[in-house]
Amino acid sequence: MTALLDGGHVALSPVDNVQTTVPLGPVQTRHSDGLQEAKHMGYSAFLERMGEVNDLLNAKSILSWDAKTKMPPGGADTRAKQLATLTVLARDHLVADETRRLLEQAEAETAALASDSVERTICGQVREAIEYHLRIPTALVHKRAEVGSIGQHIWAKARAESDFGAFEPVLQETIELNQEMAECIGYDEHPYDALMFRFEPGETVTSLQPLFASLREGLLPLVRAIGEQESPRVDFLERSFPVEEQLTFALKMASKLGYDTNRGRLDLTVHPFEVSFTRNDVRITTRVNDEWMPKSLFGTLHETGHALYEQFCDPAYTRTPLATDLVGLYAVGGVSFGAHESQSRLFENHVGRSREFWELNYGELQATFPEQLRGINTETFWRAVNRVEPGLIRVESDELTYDFHIMLRVEIEAALIDGSLKVSELPEAWNAKVKEYLGLEVPNDRLGVLQDVHWSSGQVGTFCNYTIGNVMAGQLFASATEDSRVRDGLATADYLPLREWMTEHVHRHGRRYTRDEILEKATGRALDPTFYIQHLTQKYSDIYEI
Ligand code: ZN
Repeated sequence: MTALLDGGHVALSPVDNVQTTVPLGPVQTRHSDGLQEAKHMGYSAFLERMGEVNDLLNAKSILSWDAKTKMPPGGADTRAKQLATLTVLARDHLVADETRRLLEQAEAETAALASDSVERTICGQVREAIEYHLRIPTALVHKRAEVGSIGQHIWAKARAESDFGAFEPVLQETIELNQEMAECIGYDEHPYDALMFRFEPGETVTSLQPLFASLREGLLPLVRAIGEQESPRVDFLERSFPVEEQLTFALKMASKLGYDTNRGRLDLTVHPFEVSFTRNDVRITTRVNDEWMPKSLFGTLHETGHALYEQFCDPAYTRTPLATDLVGLYAVGGVSFGAHESQSRLFENHVGRSREFWELNYGELQATFPEQLRGINTETFWRAVNRVEPGLIRVESDELTYDFHIMLRVEIEAALIDGSLKVSELPEAWNAKVKEYLGLEVPNDRLGVLQDVHWSSGQVGTFCNYTIGNVMAGQLFASATEDSRVRDGLATADYLPLREWMTEHVHRHGRRYTRDEILEKATGRALDPTFYIQHLTQKYSDIYEI
């Protein structure tokens, strides 16, 4: 790791790190949302209790970050136990009798406040989370975690050998456990709705159907038309780009977009991710391929979008349920996985892959890599990083075909959970959908049904958020660019007005409002794919001259 990247990290001693104020409590005055009036000690004690849950979850995140960035392989077994213990402690602390007593007291004390006040929103969210966890028997939680940890080893081996049969029994068990989980959680229409609740509250199989239909209708003709055009050249992206310079440039762009390295740092990992330990320590990682430069650059811009969401959450929400996912047991300020993904997609795709961005920043990239980019102009570079090529692997897919990978997964998962698709029929169903959506033959299970890690860890119901994020990003970007300050900023490589617009309308709210409330307030409408489809149509018509 370079000195520059390590230099962005401020090591805090445990004592420095202790938060001594009680956010949102009676003594809190910096927040304007009616909190000054809360003069009740019970509510304050309740918030402190929630702060402890947040502390446990942040400690879990730190151990998880360490496991992915620094830990020697030998630490894996004991680390898995440590992570499991902290998760159980956080859950137990949340549902404990003492928490429920404090919650009741807080509810009574705040009953006279408006139903949408911060205090009553927090009480409501905590009650909902407690009820959610109490519906799921502890034995089932343990069983799923156990199958998940065994599953990952079996899946890794099965994937390496492209042998679905080896993974099938553990996947069968995972599906059954998730079916059981769905019955415990409860649902109105479809068991899959219960599983999605943890990641994308409010989203259902029924609500996704019209969304997916619009995307298919809007995007499939574009994919087909592009397939008949000549592909832009990308050969120069495969030249050797030194790792250090790639990281330095990527971090420079991240900072330009607003990432505060005084409250963040960039590390290298196999799979890029963002993680926050409160808004004051929000870390990102990237992976570098010295022969495919876009990977680390756009990976970093993607994680930067996630990081901005966390870094610019209202400071008054630190350690409160408004910066804690109490259902998923994860210390995060973003309101849903989809909302989080909207920020990563927006900064990666709408900003980072735009022609305007490269007209302003390509000179700097070329100066960093004069040999590799000799004779390549801005237009050629911009076309190359936006090339469309339907592929078999989701994580390597381009902006235009990505949603088809998501749709097929969501449709398959929902069918596995309601029993209309059997696990044994999975490879066949998978391959048929890849053919239908992407026009490709799947040569083996490694490049097909075995490619994602999600099922091996016991997770079902996580995929829709990627597409929700894309759609939200299109909608938010369209609204943001109605503001002339934002437009002028984008036209002069000043990304502060855009970041501030997102902070004002999305980041600062943390989990204060639902995803749909945020969208309504920011854009004046519910989730609507029109703007996203327009963005893709316009961009790719330009690039491919169709
Ligand atoms: Zn992401």
